[in-house]
Amino acid sequence: MKCGLEIHVQIDTKSKLFCNCSTNYLDAEPNTNVCPVCLGLPGAKPLPPNKKAVEVSIMVAKMLGCKIVVDKDIYFQRKHYDYPDLPSGYQRTSTPIGIDGEFMGIGIHEVHLEEDPGQYNPSFGIVDYNRSGTPLIEIVTKPDIKSPEEAREFLKQLMTLFRYLGCLRGEGTMRADVNISIEYMGVQGNRVEVKNVNSIKGVYKVLKYELIRQKNIIKRGGEVKRETRAFLESQMITKAMRSKETAEDYRYIPDPDIQPIVISEKWVKEIEEKMPETPLAKRKRFVEEYGIDEEDAKVLVSDLDMAEMFENVVKSLGVSKENVDLAVTWIRNELRRSLQYHKVDLYESGVKAEHIVELIKLIKDGVISQKIAKEIVDLLVINRGKKTPKEIVEELGLTVIKDENALVKAVEEAIKNNPKAVEDYLSGKKEALNFLMGQVMRLTRGRAEPKRVIELLKERLDK
Ligand SMILES: [Zn+2]
Repeated sequence: MKCGLEIHVQIDTKSKLFCNCSTNYLDAEPNTNVCPVCLGLPGAKPLPPNKKAVEVSIMVAKMLGCKIVVDKDIYFQRKHYDYPDLPSGYQRTSTPIGIDGEFMGIGIHEVHLEEDPGQYNPSFGIVDYNRSGTPLIEIVTKPDIKSPEEAREFLKQLMTLFRYLGCLRGEGTMRADVNISIEYMGVQGNRVEVKNVNSIKGVYKVLKYELIRQKNIIKRGGEVKRETRAFLESQMITKAMRSKETAEDYRYIPDPDIQPIVISEKWVKEIEEKMPETPLAKRKRFVEEYGIDEEDAKVLVSDLDMAEMFENVVKSLGVSKENVDLAVTWIRNELRRSLQYHKVDLYESGVKAEHIVELIKLIKDGVISQKIAKEIVDLLVINRGKKTPKEIVEELGLTVIKDENALVKAVEEAIKNNPKAVEDYLSGKKEALNFLMGQVMRLTRGRAEPKRVIELLKERLDK
């Protein structure tokens, strides 16, 4: 399988690409953030392209390892097609801003800037032009992707990169055109394009489906037609739309109303200085600076909020091997487990670095046991960080049992109730001790200090 993607994501600017209308189209009343420019009225005069949108495009291109097209005119072209969401009858799309990059081992053909059309609802025949003219970045990959899984991983990492940049609207606004061709049983099929897939999962499903469909055609001796297909999300299948357009069908011409952009070396330098650390650079730094292993670093940086939390927790506890290990355990393992279980992202969970610092201090001071600490992590996530670990511990009485008599009582009860385990231990099966400890933990609802329980168990059993 050979797959190339054309990925569109909205750039987070206040105003539209060629006018001063607000880009807020989600909360606004339909057709209120519009003007003659974004309505495509004849004679309307567009403004020069939004500067921030151009800067973000340069940044994205840089982060994807592209060469920036400098000291050369970058035109906006009119790409013609007929659809109710496009009142002017053409979409403005720039010539490449960056070319020949590479990301996750996949070649990047080009990065350019374009405008989003409005929103048309075919069921009701109504159009809302609030979205019309919102800046979009388009990333065109080379046909280097070889499996649905690779496409999914690539897109996930790309969205992480966008979160690092903080000036794109992310997966919620992503639309991808998926190009796929296969070579099967020595037969080369034509390229099929599936338009407007709007999630990472969707891209994965499209590729899975097309692989099977195209293989079956070749198996039967048929020809995979060069065509454009639509993705029917509700049924997870693709359906033929039309035979594939060629560049001529779009009748590209430079837009005479818009002055070309020229990017200088100096401007690129200025932008480079403002660029955040890439996930890959952060990963390398975490390994070098904190001595954590490659896999832990990879997991932590896959979520910018988690990476930042890790660093804040370690710094606030003081950088040492012990504190780094504790931060990895309680963030990368336990907190992440709980977030995944409760299906919530860290940034919306309300759990803050301060909470984890407090939790680790409670563990280090022997106030709570490991087992209780795990429960507190869950409670932090469930309470959306509204209660601190200390508050949870006090409220629920989860502190470690300091009362030696109570502990001894639990140990003796465990021994009395489990004669078989005692017998096993005395006949040399040392692992029976773990079983007995588990029983003590159960009796104390996890509030016993494991080290002390082992000591007490041994004292009594060895007598
Ligand atoms: Zn406007």
